[in-house]
Amino acid sequence: MGRLDGKVALVTGAGGGLGRAHALLLASEGASVVVNDLGGARDGSGDGSSAMADQVVQEIVQAGGQAVADYGSVTSEDDAKAMVNAAFMHFGRLDIVINNAGILRDKSFKNMTNEMWDIVVEVHLRGTYLVTKAAWDRLIEQNQGGRIIMTSSTSGLIGNFGQTNYGAAKAGIAGFMRVLALEGVKYGITVNVLAPAAWSRLTEDIMQSGVEERLAPERVSPAVAWLCTDEAKDVTGRQFFVGGNRVVLLSWQTTEIADKDADDAPWTLDEIGAAMQESIGTWPRLLRPMDL
Ligand code: NAD
Repeated sequence: MGRLDGKVALVTGAGGGLGRAHALLLASEGASVVVNDLGGARDGSGDGSSAMADQVVQEIVQAGGQAVADYGSVTSEDDAKAMVNAAFMHFGRLDIVINNAGILRDKSFKNMTNEMWDIVVEVHLRGTYLVTKAAWDRLIEQNQGGRIIMTSSTSGLIGNFGQTNYGAAKAGIAGFMRVLALEGVKYGITVNVLAPAAWSRLTEDIMQSGVEERLAPERVSPAVAWLCTDEAKDVTGRQFFVGGNRVVLLSWQTTEIADKDADDAPWTLDEIGAAMQESIGTWPRLLRPMDL
């Protein structure tokens, strides 16, 4: 018996890399899967093709699972609605949405163009919004809870050189998740963020060679699949770094710097400066990507 028997999942960008690994594992745990992928290039260019999604559907079916392909773009409202519809049309319901589709257009900010900024924010942030919105309305209508995973990145949660567009979109996704998680509580819909690390076509020229096995996408998917089980019904609003068999909860920290009665006069710059200087040595270290 699978941990996800009877559930139906939509995984965007599931034609390769992490999305493929998520789709295969969800299916092997009994979920029926809508495998979405427009089959474009790593930077989002090109006409796209049905081959990537078809291949993953074939793998799932050959292993005895259930899946259907969808070739839409997460950047289109109609396509987003259609991929959600596909779940209902083919499998009669929807329980799980994994927002995973993504592209890269890396450049230092000095050389960043509007086009590079817009397309990355469009695919990641707006794409996550459009698919989640299409699913949200149907999940509420279905009235049986649900699971939404949004794929962020340490580039957005911590920072990474040359990825201002990507980092902004990925941080936006995390903010989106934090609000939606609160709104989802009364419907039994959990919303969590995944910040993965995996060797894929997106990272093959960024990561050092030799890490293909240690950082295989298959080492990320178990945590994602567990978040989709009934057992994880109370886990929501969280950010998980997952990669190379490690799972790290990324949380926010607060440090009190200065506090006086709100009826008192506002801080002078000298006063607030003194409070900052006194406290600064106690602040948590600024996280860097290599800290994980
Ligand atoms: P990948 O390129 O293998 O997978 C992304 C998939 O999304 C591709 O198959 C692509 O065709 C698809 N896609 C792109 N634009 C689409 C669109 N508009 N509509 C539908 N599908 C579309 O890369 P990956 O490494 O597996 O990345 C998956 C997700 O994980 C991305 O959101 C990425 O930003 C995120 N991520 C990956 C890493 C990592 O280490 N690999 C780190 C942080 C975040």
